[in-house]
Amino acid sequence: MISDDPQSYIQGVLARDRRVLAKTITLIESSLPAHQEMARIIIDRLVPYAGKAVRLGITGVPGVGKSTFIESLGTILVRKGHQVAVLAVDPSSKRSGGSVLADKTRMEKLAVEKSAFIRPSPSGDILGGVARKTQETMMVCEAAGFDVMIVETVGVGQSETAVASMVDFFLVLMIAGAGDELQGIKKGILELADAVVVNKADGDNIEKTEFTRKQYDSALRFLAPSSPSWTPPVMTCSALEMVGIEKIWEIVLDHRKKLLATGELEANRKRQAVDWMWSLIKEGLKKRFYQNPDVKKMLPKIAKEVENGTTASALAASRLLFFLDKMHSV
Ligand code: GDP
Repeated sequence: MISDDPQSYIQGVLARDRRVLAKTITLIESSLPAHQEMARIIIDRLVPYAGKAVRLGITGVPGVGKSTFIESLGTILVRKGHQVAVLAVDPSSKRSGGSVLADKTRMEKLAVEKSAFIRPSPSGDILGGVARKTQETMMVCEAAGFDVMIVETVGVGQSETAVASMVDFFLVLMIAGAGDELQGIKKGILELADAVVVNKADGDNIEKTEFTRKQYDSALRFLAPSSPSWTPPVMTCSALEMVGIEKIWEIVLDHRKKLLATGELEANRKRQAVDWMWSLIKEGLKKRFYQNPDVKKMLPKIAKEVENGTTASALAASRLLFFLDKMHSV
């Protein structure tokens, strides 16, 4: 049952009521316009209460150990008294018939912790939509008192960029490979990293992991750092044996301290909020264009004319865009 009073959601979220939190996220994830409208009102009122959490993004190919890592880190953080929310951005989840990220079966230990909240990726095959829902869920979780947000993503499409642009610290998880370690990395992903961590440094794998660590370390030296006050470290850890996880958290806090001191953290957040507004505007404009009845009617005909060479592309575009102006003036 979804109530139609935004105030009851706002109060429930601020009172840290888990049931209301889950219902609010359901509203955010709903595709019904009435739910979306209500979600917008709720989020707008909750914004002043959000933004206080440490926002940590984690990416890595399937099998690298993301859920094991998050489970270990989450458990350590919960023991330290933190309230940890784990969210995911996985635009492929719809196609594969279920999310591969942040689902409860993957993080059984963390899922039973009272101070942890795990939410699988919202469904959808358009990255923009999936990322929007996760971003909004993050705000609501922050308003509900979660002080560490972990946003997980697989390295598919542009999802790393989407997650990197909603967090303060972006961690790239790797494993040692069979020699050509650097081949698996998608171009550009290292540029987003605030730290690179080579996981599974345990048992017979320790030496290989250290070798890979050194390789990434030299690869990173060729990249311009994302911040003048931060050089992304390359570390190893064993998520399974919980070795090196504490140290990674210290790095996250150190980064935070440094960027807070220079004002970069605040500047980044501000930039992210404005960027976010722009991407929503672009998404909204596109949607409005395609849903405009005149555009719907005329688009196939005009596109055909362009294809046949009877109408120039520029004229066709301006005729179609004109329908939006028309809608505005009536
Ligand atoms: P994800 O797909 O990135 O979330 O990876 P998972 O966390 O599901 O881990 C994939 C596999 O790697 C599982 O069998 C884990 O038990 C194993 N694994 C994860 N972390 C470690 C680690 O630190 N050391 C070892 N030896 N295995 C690990």
